[in-house]
Amino acid sequence: MAKRKTAFVCNECGADYPKWQGQCSACGAWNTLSEFVVDPATPARAASSASRSGYAGELADVQRLDQIELTETPRITTGIGELDRVLGGGLVPGSAVLIGGHPGAGKSTLLLQTLCRLAAQQPCLYITGEESPAQVAMRAERLQLPRDQLKLAAETDVERILDLARKEKPKVLVIDSIQVMFLTALQSAPGSVAQVRESAAALTRFAKQTGTVLLLVGHVTKDGTLAGPKVLEHMIDCSLMLEGSTDSRFRTLRGLKNRFGAVNELGVFAMTQEGLKEVKNPSAIFLNRADDIASGSLVTVVWEGTRPLLVELQALVDQSHFGNPRRVCVGLEQNRLAMLLAVLHRHGGIQVGDQDVFANVVGGVKVMETGADLALLLAIVSSFRDRTLSRELVVFGEVGLSGEIRPVPQGQDRLSEAAKHGFRKAIIARANKPRAAIEGMQVIAVSTLAEALEHI
Ligand SMILES: [Zn+2]
Repeated sequence: MAKRKTAFVCNECGADYPKWQGQCSACGAWNTLSEFVVDPATPARAASSASRSGYAGELADVQRLDQIELTETPRITTGIGELDRVLGGGLVPGSAVLIGGHPGAGKSTLLLQTLCRLAAQQPCLYITGEESPAQVAMRAERLQLPRDQLKLAAETDVERILDLARKEKPKVLVIDSIQVMFLTALQSAPGSVAQVRESAAALTRFAKQTGTVLLLVGHVTKDGTLAGPKVLEHMIDCSLMLEGSTDSRFRTLRGLKNRFGAVNELGVFAMTQEGLKEVKNPSAIFLNRADDIASGSLVTVVWEGTRPLLVELQALVDQSHFGNPRRVCVGLEQNRLAMLLAVLHRHGGIQVGDQDVFANVVGGVKVMETGADLALLLAIVSSFRDRTLSRELVVFGEVGLSGEIRPVPQGQDRLSEAAKHGFRKAIIARANKPRAAIEGMQVIAVSTLAEALEHI
């Protein structure tokens, strides 16, 4: 009898090895390799031509560029505008979409809402691996969704899911969630990297071959990354992240990867009794300021995908009682804060080396762009000096290492949006200064951090 062939996979990063070793040479983690059986007879590893085919699911012809028909990818619109926006115009047949988020973020709710409506137009199949069918049905009832079209099955065995899908021939297939799915051919436990990877591969292959839209639900770990995610990244066509703290009403859906549309598009939803409701005009929803604002609070305009978003930044600077002052960020990048504080010392002459610095974006939004740099520094200075900034002031601009203020894209649109929401004064980069004056808005254009500090 032939010896069973085994391989080892790192649970942290998904790298494989033919032999066991103590440390993963790809990511450097210790004791993360687990063994799995590579069975040449399993469908997941079968060397059929189908498993090696490309996007269209069949062997491709070689063509010249001018012979290729220029057609738009056909899309299935979900009926939820904000979801379509993030997807780049709807679901693409044969594509695999991963929807990640913390437990309780509303992933299942969003998918159930989408599927109940979609099922009226085309066959859809919802595979629930975590909740019972009764729980899903009860949720649909609570959300007052139509329940007469959507088909549902409770299953975690991928082979059986594929059998069901071959029989039902859905146009949209939801797997909730990928972490509980398993292939019996693999020895490792469900949720392990090997299982997540092979299960997703088998399902994705099915989607490509049949032109089915595959929607995978994935839970994220505490540090905000998808569990077993690196291994999924190159397999899927589109990765979306549903975020928002459970105490906030709002949820944001961000596109992290999209083969069929722009990335970093942001969709905004409000969690209500009837599930997630899209927020069509979200530019100022995170802005809810008290009448008397405290020092350290400042509003900036960030650009999310194709539209502006006004967010409030808060900073708190306080005497540190320990040798090692703390720098803590919520919704902002930690390393960026450390860098900006160094610029503030060197080019703004303000020393906060012995102070704890806390920075926060109100409303649970994540600010990824550098356009918030200047606003963050001015908020920090405001808190440090305990001097309130005007509530009609809005600030944006990138801060460079030599203390220069750099322009950001769409400066004019950001200013107009701020003016629309009642802001009367703006401090921005010189290169962003609009040619024509904006009505009711006093624009202060600065080229260095020192210059900006003179104006507050
Ligand atoms: Zn590794």
